[in-house]
Amino acid sequence: MFKRITGTKDILPGEVSAWQRIEEIARNTFPLYNYKEIRLPLIEEAALFNRSLGEEAEVVKKQMFLIQRDHDTLALRPEATASVVRSYIENSLDKVQGFAKFYYIGAMFRAERPQRGRLRQFHHIGCEAIGSAQPQLDAEIISLADKLLKNFSVSGHRIRINSLGCPDDKKKLTQILKKSLGDNTSKLCQDCQERFQGNILRILDCKNESCKEIVAKLDIGQKHLCGACIGHFRQVTTVLDMLGVEYIVDDHLVRGLDYYTRTVFEISHPGLGAQDAIGAGGRYDNLVKQLGGSDQPAVGFAFGVERVLLVSADKVQGVSDKLVYIIPLGEEARQESMILLNELRQQGICADTDYLGKSLKGAMRQADSMGVKYAVIIGDNELKNKTVMLKNMKSGEQKELGRTALVKELSGN
Ligand SMILES: [Zn+2]
Ligand SMILES: [Zn+2]
Repeated sequence: MFKRITGTKDILPGEVSAWQRIEEIARNTFPLYNYKEIRLPLIEEAALFNRSLGEEAEVVKKQMFLIQRDHDTLALRPEATASVVRSYIENSLDKVQGFAKFYYIGAMFRAERPQRGRLRQFHHIGCEAIGSAQPQLDAEIISLADKLLKNFSVSGHRIRINSLGCPDDKKKLTQILKKSLGDNTSKLCQDCQERFQGNILRILDCKNESCKEIVAKLDIGQKHLCGACIGHFRQVTTVLDMLGVEYIVDDHLVRGLDYYTRTVFEISHPGLGAQDAIGAGGRYDNLVKQLGGSDQPAVGFAFGVERVLLVSADKVQGVSDKLVYIIPLGEEARQESMILLNELRQQGICADTDYLGKSLKGAMRQADSMGVKYAVIIGDNELKNKTVMLKNMKSGEQKELGRTALVKELSGN
């Protein structure tokens, strides 16, 4: 017997309606902010991610799904931002359009050790706005993330924001961290010892207890920010206040990817335990240029759909309660039921029948367990009268009626 790959999931029909609801809400919400859907390949040149996320990023060093084909090294995409930027440049959207807003929904891949709910194939809903450096856009993106979560029936989430500053400020931040971690480096975990050389910002979100203790004592503040970056950040928070978006400024918040500049944010939920992030994002003002495009600042975010589903409060209604279940009794009725099924479906009514030749009792039990609202019984009497018996499964009420009347009655539901 074959088994699914560890770290992947089958989303069975019973769970799919929850996924569809989240996707539908996203598809309805993004256009309100003028974000347009973009659909991109799941595989890209591996170099795209090395270049954009940074050679030192954990994702690149340890978690990329690589495929070697002849002389090409391909990668299953670990995230979508790099692909969106690649496409924006390749299709000359910077020249045609300049400013552009995209959203996407799809699978991402990381070759992680699948532990604590970490998946190797997971799903993102995200968006990118490319071509503007205005702080108002950062605020729009953060408030959109908040709005989406509320529409997903998520509450109690926490938005933390920070500014890494421009590349010069980031260098300064690195220096400040090097200095203030100084004597404590030997107490850091093995991973952080490595990060100290290559990706020191990442030490700030190490989950190791002794690292957390050291990091908690660091006084980072916004000393690394230049005047322009302080001004930018202030405008972002001012607009968020105006829009009534609740957030916490956290000077310990960094993102593990190289491309982030200025505003970064992370949204977490206490219902998720230690790995509590539902989504994250921020500005990446140099990525378009770095990947060979023109100088276009940008900002975006992504949610993990699996994470959102864990904390969404909504009870999802299955589609079965809209289903009409036809129970034919006997061979002739079975033939007849095919015509009725066809008529109902043509009227846009979801309909199915018993294909197992069950008894009336058995078929009724089946309809009940499926949670259908109406059963339609066709027996000898009904065949003779050219009628059907419509049974409301909730009230138990039943009535005999002609086929035209049936379609009319069910169309109202
Ligand atoms: Zn700056
Ligand atoms: Zn550590």
